[in-house]
Amino acid sequence: MRDYYDILGMKNNATQDEIKKAYRKVAMKYHPDRNPNDSSAESKFKEAAEAYSVLSDGDKRARYDQFGHQGVNQQGFGGGGFTNMDDIFSTFGDIFGGGGFGDFFGGRSRQAQRKGADLKINIPLSLEEIVSGCEKTIKIKVLDTCKSCDGSGSKSGTTPQRCSTCSGSGEVRRVQNSFLGQIVNVQPCPNCHGSGEMITNPCYSCRGDGRIRATRTVSFDFPQGVSSGNYMTKRGEGNRGPRGSVNGDLIIYFQEKEHPIFTRDGNDLLLDTWINYPQAVFGENIEVPTVLAKVKLKVPAGIRSGQVLRVRGKGVPVLNTSRVGDLLVRINIITPKKMSGPAKRLIQELSKELPSIPEYKKFK
Ligand SMILES: [Zn+2]
Ligand SMILES: [Zn+2]
Repeated sequence: MRDYYDILGMKNNATQDEIKKAYRKVAMKYHPDRNPNDSSAESKFKEAAEAYSVLSDGDKRARYDQFGHQGVNQQGFGGGGFTNMDDIFSTFGDIFGGGGFGDFFGGRSRQAQRKGADLKINIPLSLEEIVSGCEKTIKIKVLDTCKSCDGSGSKSGTTPQRCSTCSGSGEVRRVQNSFLGQIVNVQPCPNCHGSGEMITNPCYSCRGDGRIRATRTVSFDFPQGVSSGNYMTKRGEGNRGPRGSVNGDLIIYFQEKEHPIFTRDGNDLLLDTWINYPQAVFGENIEVPTVLAKVKLKVPAGIRSGQVLRVRGKGVPVLNTSRVGDLLVRINIITPKKMSGPAKRLIQELSKELPSIPEYKKFK
């Protein structure tokens, strides 16, 4: 069994906060929604949840520090750890709560069968929006509550009847005999789909479904520093579920638009700029663009073509932190194709003064 600190990539003097952040990072990386049908990701996800369940609890952590896995096994941890993904979500879902990307882990419910469908949308974002973060308002097409019957599905003035299959409980029980003894299986009633009621006089507008197609306006704030592939979940903004159940979720995926001059490399930005030969020889303070403004950049005397200068803190903010990446400016020296007569004569003069370059070096 692997060391719990190793699983989260932590030293054993890590603070609770560091452990929480590390778990969040590992869990996001191996999140089943991002790694569908990947059993090795799933087992890493479970492993991380198990490590976190111990290290996030002061008593268990102390026992683990002293006695290792033995110290916590007695409490029912260890061994298989978590076998059920839903348990992980219901146990640790709350650590992802609280603003920003807090809802990363939303959208999983034990009542999945009685929940409206989740909706997924892609939101294209410019680099400017990613750097500054912003609020977006979008319109989505959803299945919403039917206004004519207020979602009941029954024509106004009529009431649904109790389902005869399940006697109104919405559940059916099946008893199975197995080598482990009798197993009672509780499932939603197939006749009323778990609502316990049957519509006898369906509403005209929704034909008894209780839902109609509608357009909904949704606003959300997204934090600075998101990347393509990041997503956030708005609970309850998906389709309305069948009668008597909860709404699905809206899952918003971000997609970064290409920028005309900046290339993003994680949280750093790459930019090419051109200077002329005298500027390269003598050095100069030049002005370069950042995503939102311009900054001064000191080009040192004697700079070579291809050298990269770093402007700290002018890249992309690191998601959920106060850190910001850097702007990396690659200096290129312009060789003019056309020039004036005097410039040409000066260059010719210069060529007599400069040594030719006889050395060769291996390409790097
Ligand atoms: Zn029923
Ligand atoms: Zn209706």
